[in-house]
Amino acid sequence: MTPCIFCNIPPQEIILKNQLGYARYDKYPVNQGHVLIVPFRHIKTYFDADDSEKATLWELVEEAKGMLDKQFHPDGYNIGINVGEAAGQTVMHLHIHLIPRYVGDVANPRGGVRGVIPSMQDYRKPH
Ligand code: 5GP
Ligand code: ZN
Repeated sequence: MTPCIFCNIPPQEIILKNQLGYARYDKYPVNQGHVLIVPFRHIKTYFDADDSEKATLWELVEEAKGMLDKQFHPDGYNIGINVGEAAGQTVMHLHIHLIPRYVGDVANPRGGVRGVIPSMQDYRKPH
């Protein structure tokens, strides 16, 4: 069995933590300050988390957002969770992506997370 990279937590990589989860930077960030919020318990998806884990993870999202605001001054954020391989999940241990966005980081950001289906990102664009 391959060891789970999110169960394996090098202490120096933890940027925030609480009782049930932690935050670390993404190793392959899509933007400066891309953070992952991860429960300590090895569960595959958001829908496997219990209520206290969910609450805890969202608290960490808030804390990480405050930290990133101070450090990188982003202009916006995308928050996303890939649930299952069909939706693009590659690490089968729940994590919330917190992705800072900066004016000009893409030519047209309109639609944001709709970009999971790239041709549908901008709903006003003729297809
Ligand atoms: P997923 O595709 O499952 O939603 O996201 C997995 C994320 O984990 C990706 O954004 C990827 O860059 C990140 N990642 C992959 N390997 C590592 C690693 O060893 N350490 C960290 N911190 N992030 C990783
Ligand atoms: Zn795990």
